[in-house]
Amino acid sequence: MLTTFALRIIPKPVEGTRVVMVWTGGLPFDAFMKGGGETTCTCGNCGISLLKNVNYDNIHNIVYKCPICMSYNETHI
Ligand SMILES: [Zn+2]
Repeated sequence: MLTTFALRIIPKPVEGTRVVMVWTGGLPFDAFMKGGGETTCTCGNCGISLLKNVNYDNIHNIVYKCPICMSYNETHI
């Protein structure tokens, strides 16, 4: 079943304490990851899709820095 939900916004993590994914691919931004599952995760602040149709089991405990609004998004779990 396809699922879409917003990630949780967190303060900038202390360096070295979390795995933080930062977009380096230039703009326009597409997504950090695509394919392999049925979960789409959006930025909890601006709503852009950060992960598209991914397997949620593969992405937990990672912080994604939104390339659009620069918010830090944490996957739940
Ligand atoms: Zn954002």
